Amino acid sequence: MLDFAIIGGGPAGLTAGLYATRGGLKNVTMFEKGMPGGQITQSSEIENYPGQLDVVTGMELMDKWPEQCKKFGLKHEMSEVKHITKKDDIFTIALGNGDLVESKSVLIATGSVPKPSGVKGEKEFFGRGVSTCATCDGFFYKGRDVVVMGGGDTAVEEAIFLANICKTVYIVHRRDSFRASPHEVEKLAKYDNIELVMNHTTEEIIGDAAGVTGVIVKSKETNELRTLDVLGAFVFVGRDVLNQTLIQEDGSFLCDVNESGEVIVDLKMRTNIDGLFAAGDIRIEAPKQVVCAAGDGAIAGIGAIGYLQ
Ligand code: FAD
Ligand code: NAP
Repeated sequence: MLDFAIIGGGPAGLTAGLYATRGGLKNVTMFEKGMPGGQITQSSEIENYPGQLDVVTGMELMDKWPEQCKKFGLKHEMSEVKHITKKDDIFTIALGNGDLVESKSVLIATGSVPKPSGVKGEKEFFGRGVSTCATCDGFFYKGRDVVVMGGGDTAVEEAIFLANICKTVYIVHRRDSFRASPHEVEKLAKYDNIELVMNHTTEEIIGDAAGVTGVIVKSKETNELRTLDVLGAFVFVGRDVLNQTLIQEDGSFLCDVNESGEVIVDLKMRTNIDGLFAAGDIRIEAPKQVVCAAGDGAIAGIGAIGYLQ
């Protein structure tokens, strides 16, 4: 029987593990389906993590976090959690391999994944020209032209990353102003190989047997269609939270969630279910920042100690 089970090994889960183990909990396991580190490991550059003076990649930022947690006794099990249930005071965690693990308290810190845009051709050409990770796939488009869809921080940051590799980067955004922070947007002016295609919708991603060959966009002002001849289309149109582990047999959620599926928590990261905490991108009103996810994790780790006492 675990004291505290942590689902997800991103900044929130790792920090919860650090605080819970360093705070004295003995039996703490973090279930992470991949390598610990979370979605930030896909980012090409972080410059807003406090105390981190040099601009680093997401991989570099997260490099030592698992090791630090391990030092205090956090166990890491590389497993996907399928679902979590609670009976009486005990949670049961069902793993992908069929095993069931019991725990007295649980943190759900499964974060979020890229949201699909729903554009025609996106699904068909995913992995064959359509990507949601510039750090992973950008190199394949060295010296080529690509499209970046979206107008948030991710789209702008990753467009800049791609501009250092690709010939031309078209940023296609559905409005005439960016959602990204002004600081990020200002940087775009330094790149003469980034073309802004603002106030345009993406109509279709087209291609052939070899993959993407172009992206058709439509002006919202004139309705004029334009085909951008590109071999890559990077989709950065937001994130969906990963809350499937909370879904019960009857389709309801184990705890309260809002209309977007984000877990409702109080300031101590407690859900409405005793002993169940949520932290990081998955919770309501998450600022979706590494430092905030880590802060949430610390609160949840401390909260779990209090709950068990
Ligand atoms: P995540 O980092 O998403 O971690 C969740 C973990 O849970 C993942 O490792 C996942 O594999 C695991 N998991 C999910 N489901 C299961 C399951 N069923 N079983 C087991 N494991 C599971 N933030 C900044 O502060 N500065 C930046 O510059 C910045 N840049 C970004 C750039 C990009 C490209 C992206 C995508 C994000 C960026 N962010 C940035 C946001 C930041 O990465 C997130 O806010 C943060 O990682 C959230 O942490 P988390 O622990 O809540 O979730
Ligand atoms: P986001 O902020 O939600 O932005 C999504 C963008 O995609 C918006 O511009 C949106 O348009 C557009 N969009 C949404 N659905 C679309 C669709 N179906 N078709 C076309 N365009 C669509 O998402 P994000 O950029 O991934 O950022 C997620 C969170 O992580 C944010 O809180 C962000 O601040 C944070 N983050 C921070 C950093 C950093 O601190 N440096 C870096 C990356 C991410 P509208 O603007 O019209 O809605």
